[in-house]
Amino acid sequence: MKVFVTGGAGYIGSHTLVQLLAAGHEVCVFDNYCNSSPAALARVRQLTNRDLTAIDGDIRDADALTRALADFAPDAVIHFAGLKAVGESNAMPLAYYQTNVTGTMNLLAAMDAAECRRIVFSSSATVYGEARYLPFDEDHPVAPTNPYGRTKAMAEGVIADWATATPAASAVLLRYFNPVGAHESGRIGEDPQGIPNNLMPFVAQVAVGRRDKLAIFGDDYETRDGTGERDYIHVVDLAAAHLAAIGYAARAEGCQAINVGTGQGITVKELVAAYERACGHPIAYEVAPRRPGDVASSYAATDKAERLLQWRTALDVDAMCASSWRWQSENPDGYPGGAED
Ligand code: NAD
Ligand code: UDP
Repeated sequence: MKVFVTGGAGYIGSHTLVQLLAAGHEVCVFDNYCNSSPAALARVRQLTNRDLTAIDGDIRDADALTRALADFAPDAVIHFAGLKAVGESNAMPLAYYQTNVTGTMNLLAAMDAAECRRIVFSSSATVYGEARYLPFDEDHPVAPTNPYGRTKAMAEGVIADWATATPAASAVLLRYFNPVGAHESGRIGEDPQGIPNNLMPFVAQVAVGRRDKLAIFGDDYETRDGTGERDYIHVVDLAAAHLAAIGYAARAEGCQAINVGTGQGITVKELVAAYERACGHPIAYEVAPRRPGDVASSYAATDKAERLLQWRTALDVDAMCASSWRWQSENPDGYPGGAED
């Protein structure tokens, strides 16, 4: 299949590229590298020994997208490109709506012009907002609590309406839970700019000595040990879900929202303990106040993914931490600045 991948140089995109290329798909990446490095693509080429086309372009530029899609003529699109920091989305909501919503509309219009009718979209469990019940299933009300989550919910709605209006269209909205870990080679991984917002990259940077200690945001939640509980999913399992989703989109029309998680909650303290096993030394932490907006627990109902995609996770928390540690310890400062490595 010919697959057009927006945001393919990013964390989840790069891991998905490895599997797309290994499976023999032809790939065109469209990325403006605002939160990634071309070095990630160089490493994907090295890992797979296969080539891919890379276009330095911005999804806010409708003409550039239209040209790229017309030239490549894809069978399917995987749409990772987007801004993803909740805190930043509070400070600059318009930038988030422009990239995540208008960018998605530009992409769908370019797909129409190129007669491409299949899209797999990176959505997030954050669209659910406060849990009314757990596990979250796909029928749980969508009620995001921050601008980032609202852009994802809005983009989902735009894609669903497009799928309804477009004959033979197929859209898969993948609602990711908490992606972590890295490719087992340690050559590609998560490379956040500045201070990491998320738990796992923060823990990784403490483990490698880049930061002194972790702040655990609250230990008085109603969970096993009082710390927040999340559904961490290995990025390699998540990448495999995208291959399953493009396969599904090729055989089924319509629009489906599908959770991508393990179905298991892991607390902050459990994750820290797993990371200590992986890196072989203690991770310093202190308990800090709760982070505003955090919920006690979040984990996925996974039966819809199993039923429609014939996909389920295979890798456990020890594999998540071991692969993260390999990437972090071998690349303590992330990707090098240059275009090639
Ligand atoms: P990432 O930042 O590593 O990757 C996003 C990629 O999109 C980057 O390569 C970035 O340069 C590119 N991009 C951003 N704006 C662009 C624009 N205007 N034009 C072209 N390219 C642009 O993030 P990720 O963790 O790989 O996330 C991928 C997608 O999954 C995002 O849409 C994100 O919202 C979603 N998601 C991520 C998580 C997570 O925890 N990582 C959870 C749920 C959903
Ligand atoms: N967390 C923490 N310290 C940090 C970052 C996160 O204790 O430096 C906690 C956070 O309160 C939550 C869990 O780790 O309980 C996962 O947070 P993350 O930001 O990674 O994911 P999200 O909250 O978006 O699910």
